[in-house]
Amino acid sequence: MIIEEFMEIWDFLQQTLSGKVPIIKCNENTFLKWKWWDEGVLELIPHNNITQQTMVISCGLHGNETAPVEMLNKVLNTLIHGKQPLYFHLLVILGNPAALRIGKRFVDYDINRLFGINCYKMDKHQENRRAKQLEEVIKEFWKNSAKKIRWHIDLHTALRRSYHTNFGILPLKKDMYSKNFLDWLTAAGLEALVFQSMSSNTFTNFSCEIFNSNSCTLELGTAKPFGKNNLAQINITYIALSRLLSYGTILKQFNIIPQHYRVTQQLIKLSKKFVLHMSNNTLNFTSFRQNTLLAEDGLTRYFVQQDHEYIIFPNPNVSIGQRAGLMLKIEE
Ligand SMILES: [Zn+2]
Repeated sequence: MIIEEFMEIWDFLQQTLSGKVPIIKCNENTFLKWKWWDEGVLELIPHNNITQQTMVISCGLHGNETAPVEMLNKVLNTLIHGKQPLYFHLLVILGNPAALRIGKRFVDYDINRLFGINCYKMDKHQENRRAKQLEEVIKEFWKNSAKKIRWHIDLHTALRRSYHTNFGILPLKKDMYSKNFLDWLTAAGLEALVFQSMSSNTFTNFSCEIFNSNSCTLELGTAKPFGKNNLAQINITYIALSRLLSYGTILKQFNIIPQHYRVTQQLIKLSKKFVLHMSNNTLNFTSFRQNTLLAEDGLTRYFVQQDHEYIIFPNPNVSIGQRAGLMLKIEE
């Protein structure tokens, strides 16, 4: 049964921010049926489910990164209100509703450093419980699926300004990333793709490592509160996402071909003595010459090893044990 009056008003983002369980947990329209799994987790199944590909799209892991949350919700509204068809079996995740409600990066701890680890000391953190829940959600979504082409797109905004405004981080993968996936990232307006060379504890690393999915963390512009975002700045990503989800199409006339980078080293904050030798205003993808002292931490010193290396996410204020920056080289 299609409950049309209800479909007119239901909004997944507002429902999630309310913190309430929805009165109606599943519904359908001409193109699809949807099912609310849990807070911030929604499954959409096309009636005409012909492709071998399934998709997970997440956003809002960091509660202050609201532009992609608003963008994804806009796409989602066209789907759940039956204005556009759905091409893929899709799982949508709002990663950290508690942090989204207070507009902060996290409540207790950065959730995007907590996937794929078991640490009983962290159980008191709400983000640790949420990360474990999201791991189970992904396992449940993919464990019974005969469809073997898996994509996971995790949408973020960066904390600082950048020489490449929109870029993606791709976790270390057992085999090659599919050409279609890389083409879609290009169509989505990414100016740089950063290929990880080691495992990490991000959400996309988890999906890629466990399910060998084509996974990417997208960094789109800079973080602003709800209502303050200029979605026109990420319109190219919105269009690419909307076309992909509704028709499975990837526009292949690219304005920009993204620069490829490979991670060379991580600057790990080992103790309170950690000092990062660069200004607070350092832009992402700033270049440093070989032998430049980047950071020191007691007797440990981090130097540029390649001819040139480029930094992303420099942040000396992370917790001890976390990365305070990632160094990259250009991949020829
Ligand atoms: Zn983020």
